[in-house]
Amino acid sequence: MYVCGPTVYNYVHIGNARVFVFYDVVERYLKFSGYQVERVMNFTDVDDKIIVKANEEKTDSLTVSERYIAAFIEDMKALRVNPPKVAPKVTDHIQEIITLIEGLVANGSAYVANDGEVFFSVRKFKDYGKLSGKNVDDLISGARVQTDEKKQDPLDFSLWKPQKNTNEPAWDSPWGKGRPGWHIECSAMSMKYLGASFDIHGGGMDLIHPHHENEIAQSEAFSLKTFAKYWLHSNMLTFNAEKMSKSLGNIMLTRDFIKKYSGEVLRYFLLSGHYRSTIDYSEQHVREVQSALHRFYSALAKAESASQSSNSNSGKSSPEEEKILQFGLEFDAKWKESMDEDLNTAKVIGLVFEYVRSLNSYIDKKGFKPTAHTQAIAGRFVDSFKKLSQVLNIFGENPKDFLTQLRLSVLSERGIESQDIEMKISQRTEARAKKDFALSDAIRNELLSQGIELRDLPGGTEWDIIFKN
Ligand SMILES: [Zn+2]
Repeated sequence: MYVCGPTVYNYVHIGNARVFVFYDVVERYLKFSGYQVERVMNFTDVDDKIIVKANEEKTDSLTVSERYIAAFIEDMKALRVNPPKVAPKVTDHIQEIITLIEGLVANGSAYVANDGEVFFSVRKFKDYGKLSGKNVDDLISGARVQTDEKKQDPLDFSLWKPQKNTNEPAWDSPWGKGRPGWHIECSAMSMKYLGASFDIHGGGMDLIHPHHENEIAQSEAFSLKTFAKYWLHSNMLTFNAEKMSKSLGNIMLTRDFIKKYSGEVLRYFLLSGHYRSTIDYSEQHVREVQSALHRFYSALAKAESASQSSNSNSGKSSPEEEKILQFGLEFDAKWKESMDEDLNTAKVIGLVFEYVRSLNSYIDKKGFKPTAHTQAIAGRFVDSFKKLSQVLNIFGENPKDFLTQLRLSVLSERGIESQDIEMKISQRTEARAKKDFALSDAIRNELLSQGIELRDLPGGTEWDIIFKN
């Protein structure tokens, strides 16, 4: 599997992160299903954007690219994305790229302009457009095709760019000093590590045309083999219903999101929609995610403790107990079915909450009495998520730790200090001891208006956050 990686000139935003989280799940699910997977993801570390950034900072491209490669690796770790098996950099593969371009020039698929720029001749590749379903003439009339006197045809694209300024990174080539175009690098690196023909090629939906269409043309014109058998493209993230982009200034960086919320919240958020649909980012949406995870981990915490205790004398199980145990027994098969239906993580998450709802309604009615039946139900619930978390890599945290961290992050969003809550709880305990129930109720209601709920338990009063969606 080859996934187009980042152009390393900036920190990745959560829309970029969606792509990498998705392919991480694809790899995990394929492995879970018994496949052997080798995932290759490149770093585009030579590019106009990197050169511009380096000039702005009065430094060189390498300094910029190394910094953002390190930042990317850090962000992916925080998002618990497995590193790819190979993460090749363009600058380490210049020779492979030159060899590929030489082959294309030799077989007539590419040509060299007077200044040493090498172009791919799109009309020579008769299948051009087969991925996006567009034909060459549609592309010409619709596209932002720039006319360039050096090109034989406006659709032709650059494989090798001559050096214009001495501060641009450049390598020697048969066509003079220069650097590769963007598209050719992915053909060279994917074919080097996976062969001329491999199974899955992925990337964001915005890459279908021209990037992936061009990759197919170059690779197949060179090898005369089918390049990738399956193409997967994940859709973008919108920001309050607008496209997330640097120029609109509505970017949420992955690292900022994780710092504010957590990696678990971001992964859940990114997997909560089907990969081919857009997901809209808004604070309201994040609150819904926090609320859902709060519900899930609260149920998991209860199930974990109930799965550890039972007494032997439990009698016959009730129909409701039978029903929920049955749901648990079928759960693995159901979520796998949804994953087999075009990797529908949104549907899987829907199933999770069906399960959580039925568990909660059972607990609300009966509580977790320590019987063999409740132990079986709780144990089944806990085990279900051990398995699912191998694939989604969410729902697998320690519930206590997750809930503690979530409460703190929600309090800080609401501008509440946890010490203030503790103080009010002790004032209330004092009031109750003096039978001042008016004050005790007033304190409870004041906290409730801030979205804090108190529970009086035998061991003392506990508090939890509540969400008003
Ligand atoms: Zn690519």
